[in-house]
Amino acid sequence: PELHLVAAARPNLPKLAALWHALAAQPRFCRPVLLHTGQHQDPAMFDAHLADLGLPRPDVSLGVLSGGGHAALTGRTMMACAELWARRRPALVVVAGDVDGTLAAALAARKLGIRVAHLEAGLRCGDRDMPEEINRRAVDAVSDLLWAPDHDTAVRLLAEGHEPAAVRAVGNAIIDTLLARLPAALAQDLPLGLGEHLSAGGYGVVTLHRPANVDSRATLSVLLTALARVTARLPLVWPVHPRTAVRLQQFGLAIPPGVRVLPPLGYLDFAGLLARACLVATDSGGVQEEAAVLDIPCLTLRPSTERPVTLASGANRLVDPAALAEAVDEVLAGAWPAARPIPLWDGMAGARMVAHLRETLQRPAAPTLE
Ligand code: UDP
Repeated sequence: PELHLVAAARPNLPKLAALWHALAAQPRFCRPVLLHTGQHQDPAMFDAHLADLGLPRPDVSLGVLSGGGHAALTGRTMMACAELWARRRPALVVVAGDVDGTLAAALAARKLGIRVAHLEAGLRCGDRDMPEEINRRAVDAVSDLLWAPDHDTAVRLLAEGHEPAAVRAVGNAIIDTLLARLPAALAQDLPLGLGEHLSAGGYGVVTLHRPANVDSRATLSVLLTALARVTARLPLVWPVHPRTAVRLQQFGLAIPPGVRVLPPLGYLDFAGLLARACLVATDSGGVQEEAAVLDIPCLTLRPSTERPVTLASGANRLVDPAALAEAVDEVLAGAWPAARPIPLWDGMAGARMVAHLRETLQRPAAPTLE
């Protein structure tokens, strides 16, 4: 049987890579098909990551471009997925994370009676004004298999009323990929000649792209002021997300001079940069998780996180921009606690997902809803 792994945007790729490689280790089980919806078309945000992650070029590219707002992207992606899956019916569709393409693919598959697995199910930040939070809740509501990254998240899904057989704490797929790729990332020099200016432990990394942070001129400007204060203490390196680059230009805002501005980096370049930093200031979901495992102090520039397990590990803290420089001082003074290991973030999430898939595919599928 065919298993379609839906990749819409950059953060989906390291998660799907963990499953892809676990499936490749059991070649007679099913035929994995990598499908790209098109949401991230920029080669720096998609194609450049495939080789780093050991993924092939997608078997299917739907070519649905971003733009026109959430409803338009979701609707166009649903139509393209439904058209494909009416012709070429996979036994199951795997969607990852919380982007619009994830929601669109999950809805399209479920309405065709094709089973859906949600890789990274059950995350909740509690802020229903974030588009990602709406997507997470909606995808979980229609998914048949819910793969939670940790025990607490699985317990929450059960409390929401999901079937016990559907919910499984498989661990964190992004950490499978990080652990597998870290030696290669560290074997490379710092990217783009940064090693001539910076040394390991002597810089901080910045990433910002959440709509809540970058879509408002006032909020983005407050963040830039906070980063400017930090540069008096520590050199900063910022691979700028395309969304943020567009907003900076629209708003006529400039990145403070003490920050080294980089293009979005490939997976190995970014992992190598992060692993050698002394801290990261971010609003990324995946980076909070990677930092927790790398034991890099993570200053999360958001009022909430859907990954509280990283806060409990000690490595991650929610930081108001006004308090960013003081938090950096704490790190530089050696007062930040060492990260405690997170159960199930052990590199085995892919194998646990495949075990759950095997059990599920032995059972008959639901009827089509068309
Ligand atoms: N990442 C990358 N290059 C960069 C910045 C991030 O490869 O320049 C990786 C990062 O290591 C993580 C993933 O992209 O694996 C996170 O994606 P992003 O921050 O875009 O999305 P989120 O996790 O917030 O959904």
